[in-house]
Amino acid sequence: MTVLDRTNAMMEAAVFHGHERITIERIRIPDVGAGEVLVRVSRTALCGSDFKLWHKGAEFTAGHEIFGVVEQPGHRMHGRRCAVYIPIHCGHCAACLRGDTQMCLEVSSLIGWNRPGGYAEYLPVPENCLLPVPDDIEDSLAPLLLDTIGTSAHAVRFVSRVVPPQEAGPVLVTGAGPVGLGVILALKDAGYSDIHVSDPNAWRLRIAEAFGAMSHPVGDTGKRFALIMECSGAHAARNLGIEVVLPRGALVLVGENAMPWTIEEGKVFRRKDFYMIRTFYFPLGDFEPNIALLRCYKDEYRVLVDGEFGLRDLPQNFARFAEGKLIKPVLALERS
Ligand SMILES: [Zn+2]
Ligand SMILES: [Zn+2]
Repeated sequence: MTVLDRTNAMMEAAVFHGHERITIERIRIPDVGAGEVLVRVSRTALCGSDFKLWHKGAEFTAGHEIFGVVEQPGHRMHGRRCAVYIPIHCGHCAACLRGDTQMCLEVSSLIGWNRPGGYAEYLPVPENCLLPVPDDIEDSLAPLLLDTIGTSAHAVRFVSRVVPPQEAGPVLVTGAGPVGLGVILALKDAGYSDIHVSDPNAWRLRIAEAFGAMSHPVGDTGKRFALIMECSGAHAARNLGIEVVLPRGALVLVGENAMPWTIEEGKVFRRKDFYMIRTFYFPLGDFEPNIALLRCYKDEYRVLVDGEFGLRDLPQNFARFAEGKLIKPVLALERS
């Protein structure tokens, strides 16, 4: 295709209609705004947070764990391999200035949610959301630098200030999905050594064990922990975390849940000092250490990418993913 004049140029994209229905359509390539470039998608990882859009439908093209190549002739980034940082951020508010780009006080728009995302051939990306990926990182692993590594490692870095590795003792991770498994690797890397993990899915648990964690029974209240990383989003796991977190310990809510969560203010909640922490995504400045983390545990991260397919096969593979049959499958768009 001609890249210079994209007026009315078309591309293939997945359309989420709601009621678990996805179709592949030819749609117009979205406009590229001022301060933005066009990115040709190479890989977009599927994410459990997209289930919401799968059920309810999406206003914009979904897909938010995106890796591609800048296709903007004449631009200094043209041809560069980049991951896409999804929080749009102004760069000059108090949050941005202190490095908290994922919580910009001026803009709260997310790529793949509030503007077009990566289940398509192309998308426009603001220049300050381009994260150049070094050549030694293979295409299929590059999207993991975002949610799987970024979200997980940020949660661990954030809580390590209140419960540092040398004071933590045993740590519990609830939920062994991509983020939970990412948290296990980030904990190991940060120096936490005694890691326990619970998940109802035996197959995911085996992967967690292969990553060095010890399996812990789901719902068990017999053992208490100074640090609990809640990665499932399940209300039962959150409530259990409140119960078994030790005094002065921390419960970190990394997992998400679209349904309202009620905390019962009983004895276990009321009668102890503890930290209950929520973390979201990761600051831009974490990207370099996250690349280092990926290099260090490449073989482990490779295990997570257990499916790769083109756009036409996205609908059926999204359904398999929703059934829990795949951990971190990626949509792969090859250059035609
Ligand atoms: Zn995600
Ligand atoms: Zn800002």
